[in-house]
Amino acid sequence: MKKVLFVVTVTVFAACSVKKSSEKKVLNSPKLVVGVVVDQMRYDYLTRFASKFSENGFKKLMQEGFNCQEHHFSYMPTYTGPGHASVFTGTTPQTHGIIANDWYNKKLKKYVYCAEDTLVKSVGGDFEGENRSPRNLLVTTLGDQIKLKSNGKGKSIGISIKDRGAILPAGKMANAAFWYRGGTDGLMISSTYYMDDLPNWVREFNTQKLPNKYLNQNWETLLPIAEYTESHGDDSPYEHSIMTGKKPVFPYDLVEGQKEHGLSLLKEVPFGNDYLLDFVKATIKGESLGKDTIMDFLSVSFSSPDYIGHDYGPNSIEIEDTYLRLDQNIADLIAYLNKNVGEGEYVLFLTADHGVAQVPQELKDQGATVGYYNDSTILARVKEELFTKYGDSNLIENYSNYQFFLNHDLIKTKGLKSKEISHLVLVTSLEIPGVKSGLFGTDLSRKYFSNGMNRYVQKGWNMQRSGDVTLIMEPGWLSSRYEHKGGTSHGSPWAYDTHVPLLFFGLGINSGSSSLKKTWVEDIVPTICNLIGVQAPMGSSGTTISEVLK
Ligand SMILES: [Zn+2]
Repeated sequence: MKKVLFVVTVTVFAACSVKKSSEKKVLNSPKLVVGVVVDQMRYDYLTRFASKFSENGFKKLMQEGFNCQEHHFSYMPTYTGPGHASVFTGTTPQTHGIIANDWYNKKLKKYVYCAEDTLVKSVGGDFEGENRSPRNLLVTTLGDQIKLKSNGKGKSIGISIKDRGAILPAGKMANAAFWYRGGTDGLMISSTYYMDDLPNWVREFNTQKLPNKYLNQNWETLLPIAEYTESHGDDSPYEHSIMTGKKPVFPYDLVEGQKEHGLSLLKEVPFGNDYLLDFVKATIKGESLGKDTIMDFLSVSFSSPDYIGHDYGPNSIEIEDTYLRLDQNIADLIAYLNKNVGEGEYVLFLTADHGVAQVPQELKDQGATVGYYNDSTILARVKEELFTKYGDSNLIENYSNYQFFLNHDLIKTKGLKSKEISHLVLVTSLEIPGVKSGLFGTDLSRKYFSNGMNRYVQKGWNMQRSGDVTLIMEPGWLSSRYEHKGGTSHGSPWAYDTHVPLLFFGLGINSGSSSLKKTWVEDIVPTICNLIGVQAPMGSSGTTISEVLK
């Protein structure tokens, strides 16, 4: 009851505050809401690198803002598309429908990409394969709700290096989403979903050819390399170099690297964050965000840490250096917002879209019971068993994102029972090393799982889009794609993939931290909505983190 009263009180005050500017500052609405995502940021980066962070970046957010230390994703698979959609819709794939980055569409019987839309084209150049929009998202986002509050007068804009990192957070009613087109182009582009032409300020930004400038240098460590004591040695067998045939060591010759990767190389080095921040500033200026009393929304997703994390893993000097540099970007962002929107005139939160696993081989060599599973082997083994029992291996249509999709047409034609096929699929899978357990779609759609790993599966499982049998892999195990080439990945429901930072900062935010109370990805948006007096997104299923708010 206390919580309900609190919600009502804050909402009423916030709603009144636009008219009564003489009221206490804490009751004013922010001019700008900024949601920052660091792609693949584990929580422990905040503590592991703390001694080397400046006072004005991550530490400022932690010390002056609120640090939710036990913040987690509540579902699997922990991938980029679902992560961004969940952070900004306040719900999980079960409701927002973004069940993976790419998934098998069981109705169309083909793969779809989370931000794919064949009805639109790219803007800023007619680029093949850049047909992008938030069409696959089933519910509203924080940005949408902020727009609805002002009857469309406020702006909602999403920017990122990755298209899905820009598009999904901004939402379906967004004014714009901008992302980076690498290759030979090196441009920030958009989609006809939002506009017919790029705004002049984006054209001007692109004419500066900043990617060429950023890549015309070596990637050296920010500090003397001997000071990177929080990481393993530079020349590590657990890392995958971006430069084919070269050791994964500093310095990286980026002019040489462009011969292999073109301007896409910018994504895979920390200068991708510098470039994105340049674009953030251009966006705030070009679109006059936070310049009047009508609230605007901006999402910023730093993608480069994800590319670098996949290549080198969390224990590398490369990732440590990336975060020391990102700390400077965060300091720069705060200073820019303070100067151009006004200190205490905006609210910002920073989180991640998922964490990442330590390189299994590195853990194995230190005695951990982990390993690699092979998706092709799993599928082949299951098909073999189906052939032995039913004389047809095509009873499975697809296996992807830990899910089997049964061939229901064939099962019906043959007069077989889906339940029996599903059972055989799961029992066979459980014999394969690395597979821990699994769940049937029929149970996920009818039963309620209240805790444990089954709950994570249920929250990531969408009845219209997901498969018939979902597998949960053993903790620490990873796809064999990473077995010999080095590097790592994410996607599991285990803590290394779910535990990420959540920092709140700015207008109406308490300073402090919470280490005992577990908070969930769904709670971010309700907390912000409560603060700013905006209706939560339509699918929102989280709870306000009350300690965060003044
Ligand atoms: Zn990601």
